[in-house]
Amino acid sequence: MSLLGTKTRSRRLALVGAVILGILLLCAAAAPWLAPYDPTERVTRPFAAPSTDHWLGADDVGHDLLSMLIHGAQISLFVGVVAALVATTIGTAMGIAAGYVRGAVDTVLMRIVDVVLSLPVLPLTIVIGVFAGPGLGTQVMVISAVLWAGLARELRAQVLTLRERDYIQAERAMGAGPVYVLRRHVLPAILPLVIPQFVLTVKTAILLEASLAFLGLGDISAASWGAMLSMAHARNAFLTDAWVWWVLPPGIAIAVTVLGFALLGNAIEERSRPILTAHQYRLRRKARPAEAPPVDEIPVAPLVVDGLTVVYGEQGSGATKVSFAVEAGELVGLVGESGSGKSTVAAATLGLLPSAARITSGRVLVSGRDVAALPNEELRALRGNRISLIPQEALSALNPVRSIGSQMDEAILVHRPCSRHEARDRTLELLTQVGLGADRAAAYPHQLSGGMRQRVVIAMALANEPDVVIADEPTSGLDVLREAEILALLDDLRRHHSLALLIVTHNLPVIERIADRIAVMKDGELVEIGTASQIGTDPRHPYTRRLVDAAPRLESLREKVAR
Ligand code: ADP
Ligand code: MG
Repeated sequence: MSLLGTKTRSRRLALVGAVILGILLLCAAAAPWLAPYDPTERVTRPFAAPSTDHWLGADDVGHDLLSMLIHGAQISLFVGVVAALVATTIGTAMGIAAGYVRGAVDTVLMRIVDVVLSLPVLPLTIVIGVFAGPGLGTQVMVISAVLWAGLARELRAQVLTLRERDYIQAERAMGAGPVYVLRRHVLPAILPLVIPQFVLTVKTAILLEASLAFLGLGDISAASWGAMLSMAHARNAFLTDAWVWWVLPPGIAIAVTVLGFALLGNAIEERSRPILTAHQYRLRRKARPAEAPPVDEIPVAPLVVDGLTVVYGEQGSGATKVSFAVEAGELVGLVGESGSGKSTVAAATLGLLPSAARITSGRVLVSGRDVAALPNEELRALRGNRISLIPQEALSALNPVRSIGSQMDEAILVHRPCSRHEARDRTLELLTQVGLGADRAAAYPHQLSGGMRQRVVIAMALANEPDVVIADEPTSGLDVLREAEILALLDDLRRHHSLALLIVTHNLPVIERIADRIAVMKDGELVEIGTASQIGTDPRHPYTRRLVDAAPRLESLREKVAR
């Protein structure tokens, strides 16, 4: 509901931006016909106040200000668009070069980018402008010189990750040249980033143009809005009433234009946000090892729960000093009576504890990162990308009014830089992997059985190739046969994808057969953890013994049947 609201709102704002820009472009294009007078001719007396002949009055020598304003649109937009085009082209070329060629080229280009980005923009533009002399060419040069660097840096990161994508690697391995790969894969993938950046760059360029013109670095023969302000200032318009018609209109024109480009640019950017989020996340992931190299060289297990204590409210405890790890490709079963703290541990691993809960000691490491210490944004990126949850209730985890396929596409797009088309390919692949036909993509949740829905949420949990998967009673509500099938599927998938898989379950006989190790919880404490066969045949803790004895043994069932 709120999502829908945001969508229509942003669409409306985009429309406002487009209308503003449309009117401006029209004004600029039709300036010679729209403007009532030649802006360079003296058509009335100096400092004339607005009248029916001269709507915005005149400047200090009798130029018609309305005509100047209309012609000014031409200059401001021209410089803004051309400078942004140049900056975007340079930025894109540099970003691709650095990200694709890497090595020394990358190092050198990124040092230059760092320098450009760290320089204060306005003083820099003034220095260059003074050396190059005033004029439109100078403005374009100066503006593009300061604006290309940000884009280059963003695109480099994007290209770096694209380069490592399987399908591009495969094509390169088959001998595809860089030009082919760039044209066929890289350019189309980064275009959704480049276009909104271009629009937003135009906005900044127009502001910079106005600043430069105000400082006297614009074209003297053609007055932009900034130049109008500059002249108004130089001729002391501020000391008379003339500022109302001389200063306000160009000021408002600049503000409205900037607003138009900002609205449109942000709207386009929002539409390509999945790409941005994934890209920003990857950027951080790449940056991390360089900032903080691991102290010890021992590889950490994908999931480490280390002395975790969780309390609810003031006294109620959910977990007490729980410690265990799950290795890559390992399946650990977590068993224990209801209320023993299994869900508390599961939720803590995902950073999803209810607000009443507090971690009072210990920590959870997912791929070596302390879940509780991560800022929200990074935690969100972590979920779905490194760790994901297979929820208990498949039905409530799925949106009833959207098809299975579109929900899976969305889950993929949120975390990956890829097109809708690629996301759909991945969706179909995943559906097949979990034993549902690709033709199920068009189905709605209510058209599927409980077991099938559970397969869908498993597929969604795998969508972004996580290292760790947590399943909290993934089979509750399914009949015994489906339950065994789903657990067997999970067993299969963790082998195939080398997942660190933690399954919370009540079904001791089945988990005993498929899990590598079993952890037993009672009253918030981990009372025993051991290999599945040890737990099944030689339980150490009395509680485990009771649990094992109470569970219907498959062997004994078979024996009974045989008898
Ligand atoms: P399990 O999943 O093994 O059934 P839980 O982790 O849900 O166990 O619960 C462990 C303990 O924490 C229980 O004693 C329960 O009363 C308490 N608990 C769980 N969730 C909450 C909550 N939201 N508020 C207060 N206490 C809770
Ligand atoms: Mg539970």
